Amino acid sequence: MSEIRSDWKLHELEEIYHTPLLSLLSQAAAMHTKYHDRNEIQLCTLISIKTGGCPEDCKYCAQSARYKTNVKATPMLSYEEVMKSARQAIASGSSRICLGAAFREVRNNRPFTEILEMIRGITDLGAEVCCCLGMLTEESAKALKEAGLYAYNHNLDTSESYYPKIITTRTYQDRLNTLDIVEDAGISVCCGGILGLGESVTDRLAMILTLATRKSHPDSVPFNRLSAVAGTPLENAAPVSNWELLRTIATARIVLPKTILRLSAGRLEMSYEEQTLCFLAGANSIFSGEKLLTVANSSIDRDETLFQLLAVKKRPAFKEQCV
Ligand code: SF4
Repeated sequence: MSEIRSDWKLHELEEIYHTPLLSLLSQAAAMHTKYHDRNEIQLCTLISIKTGGCPEDCKYCAQSARYKTNVKATPMLSYEEVMKSARQAIASGSSRICLGAAFREVRNNRPFTEILEMIRGITDLGAEVCCCLGMLTEESAKALKEAGLYAYNHNLDTSESYYPKIITTRTYQDRLNTLDIVEDAGISVCCGGILGLGESVTDRLAMILTLATRKSHPDSVPFNRLSAVAGTPLENAAPVSNWELLRTIATARIVLPKTILRLSAGRLEMSYEEQTLCFLAGANSIFSGEKLLTVANSSIDRDETLFQLLAVKKRPAFKEQCV
């Protein structure tokens, strides 16, 4: 049976997830070696180009205008500010620059025109640009593609059945529709989730199943561990253990063999050894920089030391995925 499948069933993912850990890691590591360069990790940098004041009600998010958090709504960054951050990130080894904005959706307005300029400018620097701007229409996706956008991030966060407990201002189907629009526009899909929203393991696997049963697997799947933010409804959420994260990544590696799996929020608390286990299990990208949107992240120096300890190289931009 082919390893690249779109007909996975939930019970198969459950069996994989609950495999004795060392066997699970071996299987995931073998799959990883077959489809990826074992000793290569991509560094990404996320620049928050418009922070806070978001009308959506995502219960984990410091940027929602509905919750009293310590994040203040700020105006959109200028072209020059974004380009300066992008240049610094690229100089530190990032080959992918993600531009995030606390928008519900993209509108055809002046900020969008400015974002298109940022995409052109950063692409000219030789980096992949990924945008995370909320829901898209076909027209806005086309404009993003024409500006040279490489990827679009639009997370499912969790399973379809748990989603209404976390967000009520949009539906799972809205998310899936935007993913279809992104894919149809020829833009690389980046779509992942968050562990620690109070969901069950089955919810996590159901989300991975949704991704693994799409017509094409997403090129990129970020896994975040919730950084509980004071003032949000999930401020007291129980932390997720590294073991659960590890099993989740290994399962995703086995059912999404070619996808780049990214360790995103929640990495600051992880030791080098815990991160290394995640790389063995199939993670092959991390987010670099002192902050991930509004949350503290592992420092560039700390990451550089890890890269040297492991003797891994940084994945260049626009690298074809090996098959
Ligand atoms: S996760 Fe995104 S859409 Fe949801 S409240 Fe935060 S910024 Fe808005």
